[in-house]
Amino acid sequence: MKKIFNDIFILCLIGLTNSCNSQDLNYSLDTKFGEFKYSLTDTNSVKDLLRVCEKEIPEICKELNVDYDSSVTIEIYPNQEKYNNSIINPDLKNSPAISGNNRIQLVSPLSPLEAESKIGAINYPDRMYFLIHEYVHILMGKLENPPPLCIDEGIASYYSSRSFYLDMATRYVKQINYIPSIEQLIANYNKIPAPDLFSFLLIDYIVQNQGKEKLADIIRQSNYIKQFNDKWIEYVKNKYY
Ligand SMILES: [Zn+2]
Repeated sequence: MKKIFNDIFILCLIGLTNSCNSQDLNYSLDTKFGEFKYSLTDTNSVKDLLRVCEKEIPEICKELNVDYDSSVTIEIYPNQEKYNNSIINPDLKNSPAISGNNRIQLVSPLSPLEAESKIGAINYPDRMYFLIHEYVHILMGKLENPPPLCIDEGIASYYSSRSFYLDMATRYVKQINYIPSIEQLIANYNKIPAPDLFSFLLIDYIVQNQGKEKLADIIRQSNYIKQFNDKWIEYVKNKYY
């Protein structure tokens, strides 16, 4: 069972190392959200990605009380192989998107992903939101004290893939038959089953039951979220069991 979840929940990856070249990305576009670097084949998809950024990022920044800026580098690789060859963390080859050090790398939304061979095709509009996911990580990485992984991933997934994770929750939470406490999610993220699913659900619970305005506090002070533990466990049981 754990293997299945490892295969399913592979969309969220944060790079930790820095290196490399971005050869093949001969085109660039300066925007208020950052500099897009891309190849000729992505001339139109970059316009679509920018439209999604304009639709989502200012609103997200308002809700989280953070600022976007033009210093971010956004590299769109024409295919999985070229992405793998330039990835900032080689341990995470075959991921669809990655971020770190004010830099985002993603596989062109026009090109098939390695992950799709396991989880099925992801449609073009949903592929756009991989950039939003990584951009949220970048925004939180700019905080003086970035939040723990579960809050970081939960919020990135909330803004980028809510319907995907709600569907996964309906299908799998009851099967997993284990609800991590908020303390466990914060302290032992990598030791619990489907941590990204539960991180998403925790943030979704906060938004639905405590109010979206709490997110700006939670990303700055992770202890604040622990007071909701009993209610969170109850919420998951009532909604998904
Ligand atoms: Zn992520």
